[in-house]
Amino acid sequence: MPTKNDGIMVILSSPSGAGKTTLVNLLSTQDNFEISISHTTRQPRPNETYNKDYYFVNDDEFKRLINNEEFLEYAKVFDNYYGTTRTPVIDKLNKGQNVLFDIDWQGADQIKNKKLDYKLITFFILPPSKEILFERLSNRDMKDKLIVEERMKQFERDVLHWINYDYVVINDNLDDCYSKIKKLINAETTNGSKDYDLNFIRKHVEKLTI
Ligand code: ADP
Ligand code: 5GP
Repeated sequence: MPTKNDGIMVILSSPSGAGKTTLVNLLSTQDNFEISISHTTRQPRPNETYNKDYYFVNDDEFKRLINNEEFLEYAKVFDNYYGTTRTPVIDKLNKGQNVLFDIDWQGADQIKNKKLDYKLITFFILPPSKEILFERLSNRDMKDKLIVEERMKQFERDVLHWINYDYVVINDNLDDCYSKIKKLINAETTNGSKDYDLNFIRKHVEKLTI
């Protein structure tokens, strides 16, 4: 039975390349914040570590986890399956640890709809501009122009989901963005005042989508 001493759940989603993985890693350096490690059927990237970045599994194992109802949420993203198993998350929350999720909008919707008794704060991260997003994707996925093109196309669709999140934050300067998210989490957990301008975000989304 969840209590006041339980941890909170913090979800970060974004169009690919906007910086959510970087931000989740930064947030996890705070005391008592742990990243939820997802399962995926995608192949590991050269810089990724098994059981740290992801639990890399094949399709059969992923299906077995679905059939055993072990997932809190799962979704197909860019031709691969990704999912969060329930037990590690609930165990952490019950121990008072805060859990960070780097998941897409489909997973965020599923967790929201579960209406668990734990506090949930959802963030959608946006790039300062499409040009900068293109630069970041090109730097990260340097060898694969096709991936960059595909993810830029997907941006137009992904960005539309901003409206379903508690907060939308623009990742221009990394330190500023990190600090903004930390302050909003703090304000949410202490009922403090929030420095958040929805109109500014609405205008930024308009600029990104014209
Ligand atoms: P996502 O997880 O949203 O796909 P990443 O966290 O992998 O995005 O970030 C994409 C790339 O942009 C990475 O190479 C990362 O180092 C870089 N990056 C992230 N945030 C910033 C920032 N504020 N300024 C410059 N580069 C950034
Ligand atoms: P990547 O392959 O770049 O690591 O991740 C691709 C997308 O899958 C990102 O939007 C990431 O947030 C999302 N993702 C990663 N893990 C999960 C998960 O467990 N569930 C869901 N729904 N999405 C995930």
